Amino acid sequence: MSALAPRLNDECPYCTDPIIDQPNFIFSCNHLAHIECFNMAVAYNVRENRPTDCPFCREVLSQPLSIVEQQSQENQNNFAVNMFVIVCIIVIAYIICDIIVDF
Ligand SMILES: [Zn+2]
Ligand SMILES: [Zn+2]
Repeated sequence: MSALAPRLNDECPYCTDPIIDQPNFIFSCNHLAHIECFNMAVAYNVRENRPTDCPFCREVLSQPLSIVEQQSQENQNNFAVNMFVIVCIIVIAYIICDIIVDF
């Protein structure tokens, strides 16, 4: 069973390299970017005193940048755990569907 999370974009908006299956930064709109590229963009925006937004849909990040940076670090560490939770949810949903079909 493949449990790949759906993603909205396959290329990093900053460097246009493909997004591969490694920890990436996820915007609140579900768009993805490389964590390193995103951190560089945040550093640039902080220097320019500008808000950081999603390069695709221009949705401005609602959280303070310092917290966002911290979270992207946490996302990297918790990626395996998050994937495990997603797989569990899919399995549970599958089991529930199975029970409904049986009745
Ligand atoms: Zn990139
Ligand atoms: Zn977006």
